Amino acid sequence: MKEYGALLPEEKWQAVIQCDSRYDGVFFYGVRTTGIFCRPSCKSKAPVPGNIIFFEHPAEARQLGFRPCKRCCPERTVFQPELELVKKVQEIIGDGYQNRVDVQHISRQLGVSKNHLIKLFKRYYGVTPAQYITSRRVAKAVELLRQGEAGILEVAYAAGFGSLSTFYKCFKERTGYAPGEVRENTDLLATCVTADSCQTVLETS
Ligand SMILES: [Zn+2]
Repeated sequence: MKEYGALLPEEKWQAVIQCDSRYDGVFFYGVRTTGIFCRPSCKSKAPVPGNIIFFEHPAEARQLGFRPCKRCCPERTVFQPELELVKKVQEIIGDGYQNRVDVQHISRQLGVSKNHLIKLFKRYYGVTPAQYITSRRVAKAVELLRQGEAGILEVAYAAGFGSLSTFYKCFKERTGYAPGEVRENTDLLATCVTADSCQTVLETS
């Protein structure tokens, strides 16, 4: 979920004209000419940029005399089954990436089609579930290598990789180093965080 403070006006404006439901609950917008305020996904006619004002909370809109739109009901608690689903996926990956968790398994577990799940996940997180699983595994491997306790093979399996060749390939792709290099020089990926906080360079692929 986006943080309100991190949004640029341009991003908010784009969300409004694209009726982007990912921003529902993150901000609201009022139209000065009508005195109505909406959630970003509202399908009402696109407003003129100069007439629009953004709010973080419905209460701010109310204070300025705006009334809630009858069409999108901006004050109703935001119901986002999609977001719940992708959060569930992330949770399952977090619990299972060190084992044999894969997208097929997750889609069966949640009773949704694999393609739908991949599409949704990518829309919210910008990467596919498979890429996310790899990121978690690489981050875990970095953590284990830096602790210097296990051998490369043990690290590969403990991080959830099914084979050494996959491990070497993914590790090099994401970090730019071979696992052995990181093991020899633990300062090499000093900026990498642990597997549990995954908003790292490892995410981008
Ligand atoms: Zn509306």
